[in-house]
Amino acid sequence: MTTVAVLGTGYMGAPMARNLAVAGQTVRVWNRSRERAEPLADVGVTIADSPAEAVDGADVVITMLSDGPVVAEVIDAAAKGLGSNVVWLQMSTVGDAWSTRLAQRATDLGVVHVDAPVLGTKKPAEDGQLVVLAAGAGDVRDRVTPVFDAVGSRTIWLDGVGQASRLKLVINAWIAALTAALAESVALAEHLDVDPRQFLDAIDGGAVGAPYAQIKGPMMIDGEYPTSFPVRLARKDVGLVLDAAGDDLPLRVAKAVAAQFSAAIDAGAGEDDMAAVRRAI
Ligand code: NAP
Repeated sequence: MTTVAVLGTGYMGAPMARNLAVAGQTVRVWNRSRERAEPLADVGVTIADSPAEAVDGADVVITMLSDGPVVAEVIDAAAKGLGSNVVWLQMSTVGDAWSTRLAQRATDLGVVHVDAPVLGTKKPAEDGQLVVLAAGAGDVRDRVTPVFDAVGSRTIWLDGVGQASRLKLVINAWIAALTAALAESVALAEHLDVDPRQFLDAIDGGAVGAPYAQIKGPMMIDGEYPTSFPVRLARKDVGLVLDAAGDDLPLRVAKAVAAQFSAAIDAGAGEDDMAAVRRAI
């Protein structure tokens, strides 16, 4: 049996830890706010008081934290508990530059590292239906496959350190732009006295429709935003997209999307679901 330590039990880390425990793995977790980890005790998960305590003796360590700087801070706090044969699955969305930095940190710590961000939000995480994008560490694939299978329905293996984080950025540029554009179409419909549900109905099932519009659109129309992916993290990800594009690639849409998500945060929607970008308009 594998012992898995999960560092970070937020919207994503908590259901991932739960599914690992349900799949029969021995699971230990640490979270800065202990109360977010405590419900996991119901399925036999051990709640640790520190990152080092959580990883002590673990075969696999998962980081599922907000961003690169937090991952670096927490893995450093865990360092003294890391065994020599441990595999570190870095599953947070950290972007291009930080994925490289964290891979270097793993080398410095002498642990095997897999760049493994995920596609999917809170509900797919609860259902064990995430898509894992995993790069690097070819010789540990067999060891980590049961872990990925417990949290996801599919693993896409990529060659080369950082390739998974790069693919994740490409996907999130698309998701953020889709959400921001959807918010503007809903707002425009309301402005023009068009029923926004007719807009959703008209595109449903067609080439220009998206199942995603049918999930986020009604949230925008109803003004109810139970959080699956908070606006503050969506804004973080668009920032990572722009950082990765640098000065050479003019992503004007992504810049506008970043401004829209920032405006939603200024409007007090930072903790709401990313569909609350509608509040910026
Ligand atoms: P979340 O609920 O906000 O969780 C963030 C985690 O980071 C929590 O454990 C939080 O601890 C911890 N954290 C934040 N700042 C910290 C600090 N200074 N020191 C120690 N711990 C800190 O977010 P999430 O949705 O689970 O996201 C986790 C990662 O997955 C992010 O990189 C996100 O971009 C990515 N992701 C999210 C989704 C999604 O749909 N939600 C989908 C794919 C990928 P506290 O509980 O104490 O705040």
